[in-house]
Amino acid sequence: MAWTKTDDGSIVDQNGRVIFFSTKRFIDDICLGNCCFICGADPTEKEFNDEHVFPEWLLRKYDLFARTITLPNGRKVRYDRHTVPCCVECNSLMGKTIEKPMSAVVNGGPDSIQNHVAANGALELFVWMGLIYLKLHLKNKTNRKILDTRVPGGMIADDYEWDLLHHIHTVVRCFYIPTMIEAQVFGSLLVLPCRQEGSPDEFDFGDLHIAQTMMLRLGRTAIFIVFNDSTGALSFFRENMLDKITGPISELQAREIMTEFAMLNLHLKERPIYQSELDTVNEQHRIIARLPDRPELEDWNYEVRGKLMWNAFGHAWPQLRFAGTTEEEVKEVILTGKLTVLFDDIGNFVSGPANL
Ligand SMILES: [Zn+2]
Repeated sequence: MAWTKTDDGSIVDQNGRVIFFSTKRFIDDICLGNCCFICGADPTEKEFNDEHVFPEWLLRKYDLFARTITLPNGRKVRYDRHTVPCCVECNSLMGKTIEKPMSAVVNGGPDSIQNHVAANGALELFVWMGLIYLKLHLKNKTNRKILDTRVPGGMIADDYEWDLLHHIHTVVRCFYIPTMIEAQVFGSLLVLPCRQEGSPDEFDFGDLHIAQTMMLRLGRTAIFIVFNDSTGALSFFRENMLDKITGPISELQAREIMTEFAMLNLHLKERPIYQSELDTVNEQHRIIARLPDRPELEDWNYEVRGKLMWNAFGHAWPQLRFAGTTEEEVKEVILTGKLTVLFDDIGNFVSGPANL
């Protein structure tokens, strides 16, 4: 017997395993419900052991267990208590197929992440980052109203945003459901070397959720990702900025690059559209992308840049003393959207803390 379609438009196999979640089922069961965020099982049907948003080996490596993460609404939560519902089966499969190989890569020395992407492509890193991003947002579901006040000018509607998470969810499930993913489905991914400056932390994390953009700093390496741009942001970043970054980046510079990726993504004139093609007879799932031949940008909106930047590094305002002496003064400068910590007044890369 082949795959069948349920009333809500999901596809299930003969054992009831969900091959494809309709947006409705994804929202009802996973975003709003308590079902396993991978297979969709109800907690009453299977054994559950919840999954950390940031995997345990990462919490151990960077000594994050008792430390806190600040949620978008300002509330602090301990990293080790930041979990989403996951069944034992999916948790162990994820450990074996994603976390184990990724921990070997991250533990492999200063250039191992770059080398891994160069040798094996971006799929594994994309899925790993996608899982963190998805878990983080599923965790934030109860904070939605407060999250919304941070959306500049209501650019993305509520239901549209769930839709975007639905796309990431469909992609990251490829370790669980064999899925053919067109190359164009993948978003921008960039790995850059970092220098230690500012806080002594080896670990840093940031996301700009309206732009589906995320950054992770692991020791001397920063990873930037956009999930839904089919590499549009990266192509413009390569063209206009990457060559000018002539050395390892600082913590704040990493956050400016995250802002830049988010800006480029939000300014894409024509957005890629993602679709799942389901061949229920031959039992094949394929994710495809429709996008323009050449991405184009809309006029740069500095007000949006200012808001994104304040979200990205407003918390570090004391490190921006050159911009003002109080939080309000620094905020005002950042909100103009014109501030850069990457380049000096004549456009040269800032390679040390001297003029900060
Ligand atoms: Zn599961």
